[in-house]
Amino acid sequence: MYVCNKTSNRGIPRLGDPTLGLKSIASANTLGDLGLVKSKRIMVTGAAGFLGSHLTDALLAAGHEVLGVDNFCTGSMANLKHLEREERFELLEQDIVKAFDPGPVDYVFNFASPASPPDYLRLGVETLLVGSAGTINTLEIARKYGAGYLHASTSECYGDPLVHPQVETYWGHVNPIGPRSVYDESKRFAEAAVTAYQRYHGVNTHMVRIFNTYGPRLAANDGRVISNFMMQALRGESLTMYGDGSQTRSFCYVSDLIEGIVRLSKTDYHAPVNIGNPVEWTILECAKEVVAVTGSKVDIRFEPLPQDDPTRRRPDISLAKSLLGWEPKIFLREGLQKSLEYFKECVEAEQLATTA
Ligand code: NAD
Ligand code: UDP
Repeated sequence: MYVCNKTSNRGIPRLGDPTLGLKSIASANTLGDLGLVKSKRIMVTGAAGFLGSHLTDALLAAGHEVLGVDNFCTGSMANLKHLEREERFELLEQDIVKAFDPGPVDYVFNFASPASPPDYLRLGVETLLVGSAGTINTLEIARKYGAGYLHASTSECYGDPLVHPQVETYWGHVNPIGPRSVYDESKRFAEAAVTAYQRYHGVNTHMVRIFNTYGPRLAANDGRVISNFMMQALRGESLTMYGDGSQTRSFCYVSDLIEGIVRLSKTDYHAPVNIGNPVEWTILECAKEVVAVTGSKVDIRFEPLPQDDPTRRRPDISLAKSLLGWEPKIFLREGLQKSLEYFKECVEAEQLATTA
């Protein structure tokens, strides 16, 4: 991994630049040399985050080189630690709200944005800016270098939906001035911006509307329901249930999501596509699954429901099925089991930190 802290608007050195004394890209990429995989230089914004780091792994595994870009406002270096010796990975510490030039890239995956409600409520203006200025800056990069572009949008574009399950043609029901608006409207602006760069500048754009996704590397303290419940259960604490727990969500395991996204990136389809798991759970049912998987004997503590918390959410994935031949394979119980070790390690790390 080559780490660059430059935040100027000049191009950063490419991996393989002889002045860096690093192995050249061509020789580093045996698969590319053999012509088995057409290696691309791919920029992933938000690479130090939960989804960005898993996407980076998938792209590297496919034989590409990846430039990860992150300002670490919610991400963590720990998510990239396993790439320390990976020569096909570069990391640029950069706020994408400021214009920058990463040098030639073949594809841009724009995943940078605070994503959990506590994070985007804490970073309200930053969230508006990353979805607006940050999206435009990364679209300009794609336009300049003739790169493909995929934007991580969200089911939050549907707000508190009046149509159920949510189909891509539904325009949503969003409070433009409520507490969640910094995220929802930022993401809706981003969809408009991505569409405009396709329409006016011919950029080959893609948009995925991601429904609640979980798995290892979900930040343990980010306040989302799976991270909160898993951490609370493993600490032996009561699970915090907001409202009466009858609100619903549909939970997608991270490997399923990444597979759908990679498939979408290879299409010429420009409108938004839902990717998520269509099995709908009440939050109370979700709590019971967490208790079963962790084997913890914990009770539930009811707390007020946050304002504008969507009451129902489930993706209609007919489009993803027909367009991508994709559907999820891992359901909640199995996905939680696959995440258990990670959350146990997070609790252990917490305990170590408090005793040290
Ligand atoms: P995350 O918080 O783990 O990752 C986001 C990353 O973006 C972090 O590493 C953060 O430091 C970085 N970032 C934020 N603002 C930045 C900026 N201005 N410049 C550079 N980097 C910046 O969240 P995640 O769950 O991995 O979400 C990734 C993307 O997927 C987000 O765009 C989010 O809106 C979208 N999404 C996620 C989910 C989900 O369930 N995980 C659902 C819907 C949409
Ligand atoms: N939630 C909860 N307890 C928690 C965290 C979240 O009851 O400790 C609820 C939250 O009110 C919402 C759902 O779980 O109804 C999903 O919340 P999350 O923050 O994970 O994502 P959202 O889909 O709301 O963005």
